[in-house]
Amino acid sequence: MIKILANDGIDPIGKAMLEQAGFVVDTETVAQDKLVDALQNYDAITVRSATKVRQELIDQCPNLKLIGRGGVGMDNIDVDYARGKGLAVINTPAASSLSVAELVFAHLFTGVRFLQDANRKMPVEGDTKFNALKKAYAKGVELRGKTIGIIGFGRIGRETATVALGLGMNVLAYDLFPFEGNLTLNLQGGIKVDIPVKTVSLEEVITNSDFISLHTPFADKPILGAEEFEKMKTGVSVVNCSRGGTIDEAALIAALDSGKVAFAGLDVFDNEPTPSTAILQHAKISLTPHIGAATNEAQERIGVELATLIIEHFNK
Ligand code: NAD
Repeated sequence: MIKILANDGIDPIGKAMLEQAGFVVDTETVAQDKLVDALQNYDAITVRSATKVRQELIDQCPNLKLIGRGGVGMDNIDVDYARGKGLAVINTPAASSLSVAELVFAHLFTGVRFLQDANRKMPVEGDTKFNALKKAYAKGVELRGKTIGIIGFGRIGRETATVALGLGMNVLAYDLFPFEGNLTLNLQGGIKVDIPVKTVSLEEVITNSDFISLHTPFADKPILGAEEFEKMKTGVSVVNCSRGGTIDEAALIAALDSGKVAFAGLDVFDNEPTPSTAILQHAKISLTPHIGAATNEAQERIGVELATLIIEHFNK
């Protein structure tokens, strides 16, 4: 009988699928320093981002045959080492794309109507300075008809583009690997609309967009820094739901303070989980604590995808 430790939890539907397939699934979290002992009794472990599966752990758990990551990034797993020792390592890269894309629009709709500031000031001044606040937040803008620039046109970038197209926005996209093809809008009544999209140069995205959203992994340096902010339209806005480090935070603050950038929406930060107070307290930044994939729907899709891959692996 195959035993699985879902150490960072698993959605109940995924758990039920595994149990129906005859597997035993334990969801009680074992502390990192107790994992070596616990894993002697398991064939597989699934994790999200909290549990680390490093070389030493892999070496000390000879019964382990599979490591599953619910989500995308596998920074917490020594993937190559595990595969080199013959373990299967799986993840669920596509399951959370729509949730991250929708969070981009949560930040955009927030910023264009100053909600990040209104939500801070209304509880404090809403009863004494109502009319002054009303005036302060009077110059909102609409998204329809505006241009969103998307940097990184993989799964989440394309999903973000699809939501934007559905809202009637124009899309300018850039990726290291050019893309030309259709994005499909799935509308009410099963109606599908294919919209052709072709990537353009990074320069074009940076100079011609009203809003810019980042969807690349972090490499060795920020993708948006002082030089890029300088080339953007005045009044541009920037959203980062990708990875900390892809925006130069000091350059972002300078661009917000100078009025070059109207607002920013950030889900990811340098130095997580202790972002800088200058970022956290800036009136023009809408903030979320890395919750891009944290929706019920995404977690359910992650659970189902993980369960499917685990069942396939052990039944082949
Ligand atoms: P993906 O691999 O499908 O797409 C990433 C794309 O970025 C690829 O097409 C790649 O070619 C492109 N790219 C890489 N470097 C680039 C560069 N310098 N310039 C332009 N394009 C570049 O990945 P994805 O699933 O779309 O995820 C995108 C990002 O979102 C990742 O950093 C991922 O870690 C992050 N993410 C965040 C959350 C969250 O909770 N906020 C959740 C899931 C994923």
